[in-house]
Amino acid sequence: MSYIRSYDKQYIHGQWIHSTRKQNNEDDDDSSTLNVIDSNTSNIIATIPNGTKQDTIKAITAANTALPKWRATPLKIRLNYIRTFLEKIECHREEINNRLIVELGCTKTFANDAQLGSLIGHTITLLNLLDTDNENGNNGNGGDESKFQWEYAAGKCTVVKEPIGVVGCITPWNYPLNQIALKVIPALLAGCTVVLKPSEITPLCAYSVCEAFHDSELPKGVFNMVMGKGPECGEILASHENVNLVSFTGSTSAGQILTKVAAESGTMKPIKTELGGKSASLLLHDANFDKVVPVYVKQLTSNTGQSCNALSRMIVPRSSYQKVVELCIQTMKTEIIGDSRYNSKATIGPLVSQKQYESVISLITSGIQDDGATLLYGGLEKPSTILESKENKNGYFVQPTLFGDVTNKMIIARTEIFGPVLCLIPYDTVEEGIEIANDTPYGLNNAVASNDIKKAVQVAAQLQSGMVMVNHTNLDLKAPFGGYKLSGNAREWGESGLDEFLITKMINMDINEYRKNK
Ligand code: NAD
Repeated sequence: MSYIRSYDKQYIHGQWIHSTRKQNNEDDDDSSTLNVIDSNTSNIIATIPNGTKQDTIKAITAANTALPKWRATPLKIRLNYIRTFLEKIECHREEINNRLIVELGCTKTFANDAQLGSLIGHTITLLNLLDTDNENGNNGNGGDESKFQWEYAAGKCTVVKEPIGVVGCITPWNYPLNQIALKVIPALLAGCTVVLKPSEITPLCAYSVCEAFHDSELPKGVFNMVMGKGPECGEILASHENVNLVSFTGSTSAGQILTKVAAESGTMKPIKTELGGKSASLLLHDANFDKVVPVYVKQLTSNTGQSCNALSRMIVPRSSYQKVVELCIQTMKTEIIGDSRYNSKATIGPLVSQKQYESVISLITSGIQDDGATLLYGGLEKPSTILESKENKNGYFVQPTLFGDVTNKMIIARTEIFGPVLCLIPYDTVEEGIEIANDTPYGLNNAVASNDIKKAVQVAAQLQSGMVMVNHTNLDLKAPFGGYKLSGNAREWGESGLDEFLITKMINMDINEYRKNK
């Protein structure tokens, strides 16, 4: 069986149904479908429905109808559905990895570990947090026991966490599975029902997730998926009165549009956003350069630079500048660029799409021509191995690229490039380094490197970002992920990610009395 196939239906109320555009379009012309492209070759490999606002409204109705029963379903049973989902998704492992290699262009290892692996990891983290057999649990939702505080005493009152309701989840292409997991799993466990609008650029892995939910026999309408373009299928989630929250991950510009649409709707619903970034690694004078520079470069080039938290600016003490340049080049030289179907050693694949390729190439061009930065490695040419390849010469491959002598005023230092492009910015004093790191409209991630941990912590306190990495880039699935400023207002991962889908209620009753009577 081929893992790559076309889909022509939406998933609404537990059923696979045609989009209203297809129903109204007897001739089935091109407008009823969207193409899925292989990033490694630029070939069309499948089609998906070009969904409509009416499709999304149908999905909202299904989710709203299913809500009362699902929110009253004991946590134990909700947990069991998600455990079954984990078993079912395992059956799709090979299919998902193959789909991601093609539609996202990532390597096999990245697909398996950073995409499917993180979906599974995040789900298990939440299952452990909410496990009702925990010995140390508090008295939780529906009489179940779990580590999570579903209710707690506040003086003579009781505070209760309840599901917020119907949730619209809109996800991007760059971490397609991870992003779906970070929204849909906590929302369902919280007792919310869901309308998912995944990225139309990487839709095939989303269909695998959808099939796994279908096979888990979730009650009809609890999980719904609409496929299509963002403005047409997604915006209605922000304005519709029966959607109680939108959880959005994507570009800052689309996040701003959704926030405006929601405000104009007067529904007062929260729009929780995970948006773009222009993160910096700040190397202090006493950093262990040999150790940290390769780690920070690899963090950037991973997923071909298409990560919201990519450390795309490196702020370097002028006295160690030359050493850092050499370490960056050495590390970039170790990258093997290729299509992991033909080259099992490939460490980075192509960019996702023609649009992304053109955008990255135009920013590299502007770094050279308009900004006047020094091109130290990589550049505009496709890697020679790719140009010589019969299969991949039209794929969206770019070289890891290093710019030196960058100032924070340059376009390449201010724009989220979303490609494997690193800007080296020299500084003299630590205060100046911190100022450069903070001089961006974004605030998702930063890193600080120093052998003096006390100093590193003092600097971390002055960095305006939701996350700061000290000396390494490891994350923990239990710790919150999210930004300041134009990087958004949400916190995902672990307990914080679950909290996004809950709303707080106060009951003016002593907690013992409340528990006795509920
Ligand atoms: P995008 O904004 O183009 O699309 C994201 C999703 O929103 C897609 O499903 C798209 O169809 C939909 N969409 C687009 N316009 C919309 C609109 N007007 N109304 C409703 N939905 C709309 O972003 P992208 O190119 O898919 O993803 C890349 C961006 O995502 C980058 O900026 C990256 O930094 C950001 N991102 C952020 C995080 C984070 O956690 N902060 C994680 C991953 C990606």
